[in-house]
Amino acid sequence: AKAKGRNTFHFYSQELDAAANERLYIENELRQAIKSKQFSLYYQPQVDCKTLKIVGYEALIRWKHPDKGMIPPTKFIPIAEATGLIVELGAWVLEEACMFSMRLQRQGRSGNMSINLSARQFKDAHLIAEISDVLERTQMPPSLLHVELTESMLMGDVEAAIAQLHQMKDLGIGLSIDDFGTGYSSLSYLKRFPVDSLKVDRSFVKDIPDDSNDMEITAAIIAMAQKLKLQVVAEGVETKEQVAFLKRNNCFIVQGYYYSPPLPEHEIEIFRSQLQDKAGI
Ligand code: C2E
Ligand code: CA
Ligand code: CA
Ligand code: CA
Repeated sequence: AKAKGRNTFHFYSQELDAAANERLYIENELRQAIKSKQFSLYYQPQVDCKTLKIVGYEALIRWKHPDKGMIPPTKFIPIAEATGLIVELGAWVLEEACMFSMRLQRQGRSGNMSINLSARQFKDAHLIAEISDVLERTQMPPSLLHVELTESMLMGDVEAAIAQLHQMKDLGIGLSIDDFGTGYSSLSYLKRFPVDSLKVDRSFVKDIPDDSNDMEITAAIIAMAQKLKLQVVAEGVETKEQVAFLKRNNCFIVQGYYYSPPLPEHEIEIFRSQLQDKAGI
């Protein structure tokens, strides 16, 4: 048994080594990637399922590594966050997304632009100045920019978070709670956060219509959002049954593979015209 225990330990430590090595590798490569422009933004349309119009986009970062190919954000964002590199990367995302949004505006396309903020960026003292600079530089109407935050980012020092949210609101931008229902914010806090919308997490949507608990939870989140006068966006919507369920429950803004995966900029216009064909416009 002892020998086995040792082997097991050996096995685990090798696994840990591999994980630690991968982290280190990604950390080193991230620094290089920022310099050599290996990142791009994809945009996932948010569609009004009643009118089949695009009402917004979520900007999602992509990293194409010269040797490793696509490295998913779930792998590198936490490392960028831990090392602080996210501040630089996040600034790039913000500017890039605003510039694309303005290109859309100039083509006469409506729709707001959502970006994801990391905890580190949210706590950064320069965030407000940075957003206000970008809005100024790009001439983007502030109301078109929406920032997505998670409940866990808001729950540590709640008073500081509320103050920061108010400063962001004062810039005129929209605020949205991402992955709603997966964190541990309570309803009493939700009322105090000056946010405009909630995104129902994919984990609740994915098993609709097979899981009746998930259907109850989703319906309850939507009903609550309406009571609090918050917009609600459903994420991770993949099937027409899910769209039908959401519609029946008064959630009309839908994001997910059912309509479109995140797309590179040059595919957005193609998607828009296909959607218009479907809507019979
Ligand atoms: P998120 O903010 O919850 O983004 C939604 C994720 O769900 C995206 O994954 C998107 O591609 C994926 N998705 C969209 N529709 C569907 C669907 O119908 N089915 C399924 N299975 N998935 C769907 P992605 O792009 O891999 O991003 C993962 C996470 O990485 C994001 O989750 C977000 O937390 C983070 N992230 C991505 N881009 C950025 C960024 O620019 N900055 C920061 N701070 N975080 C980012
Ligand atoms: Ca998001
Ligand atoms: Ca989300
Ligand atoms: Ca998520």
